[in-house]
This record gives sequence, C-alpha cells and structure tokens, in this order.
Amino acid sequence: MLNRGDYWQCGFVIPKGGFDQIQACGLASFREEVARLAPYLRERTDELKEWSDVKLLTVSVDRLRAWHRPGVLCIGDAAHAMSPVGGVGINLAVQDAVAAANILAPRFLGAGVSENDLHAVQRRREFPTRATQAMQVFIQDRVIGRVLGGTRTLSTPLLLRLAARMPFLTRVPARLIGLGFRPEHVRAPAAA
Ligand SMILES: Cc1cc2nc3c(=O)[nH]c(=O)nc-3n(C[C@H](O)[C@H](O)[C@H](O)COP(=O)(O)OP(=O)(O)OC[C@H]3O[C@@H](n4cnc5c(N)ncnc54)[C@H](O)[C@@H]3O)c2cc1C
Repeated sequence: MLNRGDYWQCGFVIPKGGFDQIQACGLASFREEVARLAPYLRERTDELKEWSDVKLLTVSVDRLRAWHRPGVLCIGDAAHAMSPVGGVGINLAVQDAVAAANILAPRFLGAGVSENDLHAVQRRREFPTRATQAMQVFIQDRVIGRVLGGTRTLSTPLLLRLAARMPFLTRVPARLIGLGFRPEHVRAPAAA
C-alpha cells in the first residue's frame, strides 16, 4: 500500500497471465478478494468502479545483448528490464547513469566518444545487472512464485534461518539492496 496523498495505491500480485481469469470472475469478486486480504479496506473497495481503475503492470527481467550502437547507449530499464523484487531497479538505473557520466564525460570534453567508450559502460555495468537480476529471479522463484502458486505451507528460506541465528548476516542483503553489487560515485568533471 502506498499513500499517494489523496489516494492509496494498492499492489495486488498475480501470476503472469492471470489477469484474464481475474477479470472473468468479475469486479465484485476482485473487490471481495482485496477485502479478504486487507479487511480494513472493505468499506473502500467500491472505489474500484470499473476495470480501468485497475492497471496491469507486467513484470519482465531481461537484458539487451548489446547496450549500444554508434551514437546511442541504452542504460537502466532500456538496457535491462528489472522486476520490482527488492525495489532495486531505480538504484541500478541511477548507477548506470553515474557510470556512463564517469566514463563518457571526459571523452565528451576531449577527443569525442567512440563505440569502445560506449562498450566500456556496458562492461562496467553488466556484472551488477546480471547479479541483481539473478537475485531477483531467485527470490521470485523461491518465494513469490511458491506463494502465488501453492497451497502448501512455506518453510522459512535457509538464508533467513541463518540470519536469525547470526544477525550480522542481515548486513549482506541490506548492503546488496541498498548499495548494489557495484556502487558508483560521481567522478565526472563538472560541466564547464
Ligand atoms: C510493477 C513494477 C514495480 C516496480 N517497483 C519498483 C520499486 O518499488 N523500486 C524500484 O527501485 N524499482 C521498481 N521497479 C523497477 C523500476 O521501475 C525500473 O527498474 C526503473 O523505473 C528503471 O528506470 P529507468 O529510468 O531506466 O526507466 P523508466 O523509469 O521506465 O523511465 C523511462 C522514462 O522514459 C519515458 N519515455 C519512454 N519513451 C519515451 C519517448 N519516446 N520520449 C520521451 N520519453 C519517453 C517514460 O515515460 C519514462 O518516464 C518496478 C517495476 C515494475 C514493473
């Protein structure tokens, strides 16, 4: 639930391709499901008056093989679509931008940007992208997928059990989510 000031935005996670089935059951049934999961919203679900009040956001996790062509460089989701898992897609996009500025700004001030320079940005950012996406897919498959698809009671994942015994381990995911696999710092010269 996100407080948007004059309204609440509510995320409702469904399996990929499951929206048609939800629509087929009708809006009343959808409202009831929201109220079942969040009973304190029961009085407000009438605000969903038609399906256009519900926005389907499709999640994908993928990467371009080449992030650049002569004269163009893709960064952020344009180069690698991120899932919401971990809330790290924005971090990665900003880090790509910082890395691109660090690598390209001196070139713009000097001899100009070559395709090699564009490739240097991809080289620097590809590992953190792959590692972050692997983490997202792992959590998606091991936790979210099982919650959405299963009726079995879930056991606590091994990593969480270990962290409960050794609290210092909680620093690892906190660091990976907060700072990422390769933090970036602005080193580009200030614009003239
Ligand atoms: C459902 C969902 C929830 C998510 N939640 C989170 C979260 O909580 N935290 C998080 O960190 N990440 C989250 N992500 C991932 C995150 O949204 C992306 O990784 C991040 O927004 C990428 O930033 P970006 O600047 O590369 O691209 P975008 O944020 O997509 O920005 C691209 C911008 O370009 C604009 N644009 C497109 N075409 C044109 C054009 N032709 N001319 C001009 N402008 C154009 C678009 O309107 C958009 O404003 C979520 C993703 C999804 C799908």
